[in-house]
Amino acid sequence: MTTNKRTLLCAGLTATAALAAKATGLAAAAKAGVAPSVAGDAVTAAAEDFGHLIHRKPQAVLKPASAAGITELMPWAASRGLKVAARGQGHSVFGRAMAEGGGVLDMTSMRTIHDVQPDRITVDAGATWRAVLDAALPHGLTPPVLTNYLELSVGGTLAVGGIGPTTLRYGMQTDNVVTGDGRQLTCSPNSNPDLFDAIRAGLGQCGIITRATLRLVPAPQRVRRFNLFYADLRSLTADQRTVLTDGRFDQLQGAILPDGAGAWRYQLEGAVHYDGQAAPDNDAVLAGLSDQRSAAVISDLTYNEDLNAFARLESLLRSNGQWFHPHPWLLTFLRGSNAEQLAGDILAELNNSDVGPFGRITYYPMFTKALHTPLVRMPDESVAFPFNLIRIPASKDAAKADQMVAGNRVVYKRLRDAGGILYPVSAFPMSQNDWKDHFGPRWSLLHDAKQRYDPLATLTPGYTMF
Ligand SMILES: Cc1cc2nc3c(=O)[nH]c(=O)nc-3n(C[C@H](O)[C@H](O)[C@H](O)COP(=O)(O)OP(=O)(O)OC[C@H]3O[C@@H](n4cnc5c(N)ncnc54)[C@H](O)[C@@H]3O)c2cc1C
Repeated sequence: MTTNKRTLLCAGLTATAALAAKATGLAAAAKAGVAPSVAGDAVTAAAEDFGHLIHRKPQAVLKPASAAGITELMPWAASRGLKVAARGQGHSVFGRAMAEGGGVLDMTSMRTIHDVQPDRITVDAGATWRAVLDAALPHGLTPPVLTNYLELSVGGTLAVGGIGPTTLRYGMQTDNVVTGDGRQLTCSPNSNPDLFDAIRAGLGQCGIITRATLRLVPAPQRVRRFNLFYADLRSLTADQRTVLTDGRFDQLQGAILPDGAGAWRYQLEGAVHYDGQAAPDNDAVLAGLSDQRSAAVISDLTYNEDLNAFARLESLLRSNGQWFHPHPWLLTFLRGSNAEQLAGDILAELNNSDVGPFGRITYYPMFTKALHTPLVRMPDESVAFPFNLIRIPASKDAAKADQMVAGNRVVYKRLRDAGGILYPVSAFPMSQNDWKDHFGPRWSLLHDAKQRYDPLATLTPGYTMF
């Protein structure tokens, strides 16, 4: 049995160093092994994120060279009342990696891949999942759960959860952290277990993750992907439930897509992994399903090609400019028992333009029993449906984006009242009471760990939680 363990730093642990844009501060920061920027591109970039909805300028951006540099900075910042946030790839959508007037730790300076073993890989937290995969694949290995988009940092997704097409089998990325060597403070179920539970999906509130050892499993050689289309939400949901239960797919996702003419298309996305000559029989895989078979798109790809699907969308959105538009995303989980009803009701009030021509509404079932991370909140049923408004507006219109943010709040309240749960990678303001409500019985776990490891509330102010 593996022991879960993680290397991380906690606010307020040791020594003194610098953060601010003063000569003495900068000198101390340099001594502590961080390269500070106090103006220019780095500071401007740290005041933005993928959402383009919140803009908060830090006093300095620091590029830590090592965990030791961060350890020295934390008490220095805390004693001066300065806030500090780690920034991985800045793909948050609502300022969660920002620290107005404080310090942003640009974790891209800590991205070393340390060690690949048959069942694990040790990486610095600023590494992207693409880099982790590139290091593992030559050994025939892969992390069991990858996000659809690989250019996210390990620290950034471990701070929130990390869901992907194989979550139905392996849970979240936070469920797949294994033994690591701690240079600063290491936690596991047996050592600092409170911290171990508070740091995974703890929204950066109790520590900066500097290094993680992640589980690896054998990588499949090939992927047969089945994109199936349905006339309506009911028939999509019925087949999604069937394939979840019988386990015919190794990957399962799905979406409601704008058809460009004002209506919606309903898509099931399943995939079968296979090696060598053992190709799946398409008829057998699709047996008993009621999709519009003539519309089915079946593709056969290497594992790596399959994982690049989002990169192709990124490239398209960069070329048409929509990658740089506001992205007022709302990510949630619905209860299995009322998902179809609730999704249908919400959908009836949305137009294609509410998600944009290249946006989508993620919608598919998964078993909640695959998830074990205490701070990953799920509806209290055996099946939950991710229900995500992946809004990619066709225009940069800030007023429209603000309306969508307000709309997110309305949808969130509605689904929360129906037993739904937020995935806290969403664009709308949350108060401390909202967070208490979100974490429910787990709030005390996070609150108590915060008092213990970051009592001055130095870390990650972007969630407005403490
Ligand atoms: C195009 C796109 C696709 C996405 N696809 C998926 C998906 O398939 N599955 C999924 O689960 N999510 C997905 N997300 C959401 C994404 O996982 C989160 O927004 C994630 O936090 C972003 O990672 P990042 O490296 O950009 O983090 P940042 O935006 O830089 O930071 C996110 C949060 O984590 C904190 N943080 C960052 N690094 C550390 C660290 N080392 N220690 C402690 N805290 C840290 C930050 O302070 C901040 O609060 C997607 C987002 C985008 C924009």
